[in-house]
Amino acid sequence: MNYPRSAYLHIPFCHRRCFYCDFPIIPLGDRASGEHGTGSSSIQSYLDLLYREICLAPKGVSLSTVYIGGGTPSLLSPLQIGNLLNHLREHFGIQYGAEITLEIDPASFDDASLKGFLEAGINRISLGAQSFDNSVLKNLGRRHTYHQLLEACDLINEHFKNGHLCSWSLDLIQNLPGQKISSWKDQLEIALNIAPPHISIYDLVIEKGTVFDWRRSRGELTLPDEKVSSDISKLTSKTLKEAGFSRYEISNYALPGHASRHNRVYWSGSGWWGFGLGATSCPWGKRLSRPRTRDLYKLWLENQEVNGVDPSLEFVKEHSLIPLEDLFIVGLRRREGINLETLMKRLGWEHDQLEVNINLLKIRWEYALKMGWIRQIGYRFYLTDPDGMNISNQILVEMLLWWETVSDCSFDQPNS
Ligand code: SF4
Repeated sequence: MNYPRSAYLHIPFCHRRCFYCDFPIIPLGDRASGEHGTGSSSIQSYLDLLYREICLAPKGVSLSTVYIGGGTPSLLSPLQIGNLLNHLREHFGIQYGAEITLEIDPASFDDASLKGFLEAGINRISLGAQSFDNSVLKNLGRRHTYHQLLEACDLINEHFKNGHLCSWSLDLIQNLPGQKISSWKDQLEIALNIAPPHISIYDLVIEKGTVFDWRRSRGELTLPDEKVSSDISKLTSKTLKEAGFSRYEISNYALPGHASRHNRVYWSGSGWWGFGLGATSCPWGKRLSRPRTRDLYKLWLENQEVNGVDPSLEFVKEHSLIPLEDLFIVGLRRREGINLETLMKRLGWEHDQLEVNINLLKIRWEYALKMGWIRQIGYRFYLTDPDGMNISNQILVEMLLWWETVSDCSFDQPNS
């Protein structure tokens, strides 16, 4: 496995917690902002921890993608974003032409701060739009309004059109409580009129412990039924395809040349660095998740400083391959799917063994193959869009059950 060329930095601060969110975040109140506003000392002390963690990581090759996510990283000032990038630059180096993404929230920046972010080195934006409907935004617990969202899109588009920004993504959530095909159609139309080069569309997931979870338990949330949900997903795929977008991953659509390079790192099975509370790193095939609260993260960091970094962060040859199970999970989400001949090389399967085991998998997938939800080209299998991608979980479960029967669970100690 090559040295990781990608880094994720987690900025956990938000104004307040949205009703569906269970991310590791620290709500700072509606008036919070990076350098001087409410919560600025909290932000600065966290950034100091983050710098310390970056310094601890073993040095490697320079980075080709950086993703600053959260949380609401746009609560930070351009100077703070620039300092973070400088720390990465000093420690690893950042390649010329690297993709550097910042997640931003519509009501948390203005033109001056956006310009500042771009001058600091950001060249890709991911905008958490979620919905263009004020009542839906309110029900989600979002702070921004439709009007603020349109203003944010205009500002971003201006910088995209004049070439200061290489690309940007508009993020929406589908299958929300009470959503109907007609209302979702309107949402897609507005999104396409704004003309972002990349759109991410996530299905709502009700996470334990969230306000939505509580509302559901009281019977106060009416989610779209299976038929409506499937129609909504199919409409998304059809509408965006007709508008020239390619669905390069289950939740991600891009115009030519705008697929996120950073996302593809996760899905291709390459390693990455991760920094910050709640962040996961996987530089050499072993995942390492950091504690999800600031106090525990600080303790964890101090422990690393005193006792040496976690072994998963040090290059060790026998740990240098991502488990095959993980590669199935991420690989089936991608348009190109997975090539079993390539993946199974690491187990040293002979040709006959590969054929026998693939036939066993095809027996498990018989119905999905017959229905055209999975396609096979040689040893490559991929899910069709939209039918296969819409039931990806069931198809994956069958694959993992197959894997249990044909592997001896030795994928953590590969032959090569
Ligand atoms: S802004 Fe994003 S990270 Fe923050 S609470 Fe809302 S959904 Fe969660």
